[in-house]
Amino acid sequence: MKRSGKYLTPVIMLLIFEAVAVTLWLTKNNLFYLFNFSYIGLSISLGVFLYIKKYKYARRIVQLLVGLYMLIYLGLICNENMQIEGFWYYLFTGVFEAATIHYAVAKIFGPLIFGRGWCGYACWTAMALDFLPFKVPQMPRKKIGWIRYITFAASLIFVAALFLAKAGNIERIMFWAFIAGNIVYYATGIILAYAFKDNRAFCKYICPITVFLKPMSYFSLFRVKCDKEKCVNCGKCKRVCPMDVDVTDNSRKRKNGTECILCMECVKNCPKNAL
Ligand code: SF4
Ligand code: SF4
Ligand code: SF4
Repeated sequence: MKRSGKYLTPVIMLLIFEAVAVTLWLTKNNLFYLFNFSYIGLSISLGVFLYIKKYKYARRIVQLLVGLYMLIYLGLICNENMQIEGFWYYLFTGVFEAATIHYAVAKIFGPLIFGRGWCGYACWTAMALDFLPFKVPQMPRKKIGWIRYITFAASLIFVAALFLAKAGNIERIMFWAFIAGNIVYYATGIILAYAFKDNRAFCKYICPITVFLKPMSYFSLFRVKCDKEKCVNCGKCKRVCPMDVDVTDNSRKRKNGTECILCMECVKNCPKNAL
């Protein structure tokens, strides 16, 4: 009974996504939402199932299933700009569709429940960056996180300027902005990873989406916590963390707490099962 109980988690995950899928399908009268959220739910549930089975690449499989779907199918085939510019675009047009729904679920309200799970399991930028060789940062963290506010403001100003200038065919511009934005993100991410010897340098210093993700994930329901009774302060968890989180501190104010991407490397590597 106890053994089968652990498989409840992927089932519950699938049910939550199916509830979102069916609700959006019926309220928006659009079958796409049923397909979209069912696919993402199935991918995440499969990942959780593989993680429970202790499959080493469980997280990477989810990253590829969701990331490639969003980049290739939604972005390139369906011409949906799911980057932050796409979010501003739909917000300005006052339409609760595509990118606005995506941001609401994955990046604004979702993090109240699952923190920065998006960053660990679904982001197509990190999907590629995680293939690079610096899985654990090999240099101390830099104090340049303020750059994210500049990229955030730049994305907002870019879309606002298009509306103010009454640019024609904004949808086409948004598609090309998606292509150009991704090329810039990948190029910057790879250069920074090698410069700072850290695959996740782009996430730590540049990514504009963290302006939403960090404050919302501060309140996350789901967090990795440390059982102080079991912990022997060996420090292994901090040495394997890609985001420099002080995971042995259970307070919400722990060092780099809002950087946690729930990758579970600390949990997998703790010799005392304290996390
Ligand atoms: S911080 Fe930005 S680039 Fe990094 S995983 Fe999160 S959303 Fe993707
Ligand atoms: S790896 Fe485990 S035992 Fe070691 S410091 Fe971290 S939580 Fe404590
Ligand atoms: S290693 Fe642990 S603390 Fe660090 S990002 Fe992954 S889950 Fe969060």
